[in-house]
Amino acid sequence: MIYNNTKTLVESLMKSKIPTSKICLDMTFGNGNDSYKMLSINKSIQVYGFDIQKNCIDNAKKTNNLKVINDSHLNFENYTNEKIDFAVFNLGYLPGGDKNITTDYDTVIKTLEKLLKLMNIEGQIVITFYPGHRPGFEESINIINFLRNLNQKEFNVIRYDFINQINNPPFVCLIERIK
Ligand code: SAM
Repeated sequence: MIYNNTKTLVESLMKSKIPTSKICLDMTFGNGNDSYKMLSINKSIQVYGFDIQKNCIDNAKKTNNLKVINDSHLNFENYTNEKIDFAVFNLGYLPGGDKNITTDYDTVIKTLEKLLKLMNIEGQIVITFYPGHRPGFEESINIINFLRNLNQKEFNVIRYDFINQINNPPFVCLIERIK
């Protein structure tokens, strides 16, 4: 695989974790690419996809083991009481959609606070950041500050940067629960 961009990087992280996963969350469903990718890797997982835009949920493909929910990721624990193996966030706005409907770092941090406690040991969260525009830059600074302060005895936090690309390229963080 060639790591052209964050999408191929996220795909490779999914391929390493999803085969042994059971409960997976797509926290920013949009057009559903992350959900469909996870299900293509392992058909027996259960995926819960969240989006605040109703049309994203209405347009979702009816697929086995995918439950799409028109609600904020902040409320994810209302829909499953099982421990989470994998969660993916693709921050920002939906490409080709309304740029004003975007993720909000305060909500993402509050969601992460709850999610971190409900992850299985060895469970992983993958987040793609888009700091190339002002709100995305602010969002990444605030979420990274939160992640930096996680206890290293409980979580590994790994950041993947394309350090030779210009103009604040997208980057990825992997959070893994170890205790
Ligand atoms: N991964 C998606 C795909 O495959 O199309 C693209 C996601 S897009 C970058 C970000 C999405 O997050 C938008 O569809 C937006 O509506 C959604 N979103 C923003 N705030 C949200 C929230 N609090 N809860 C759930 N979804 C949210």
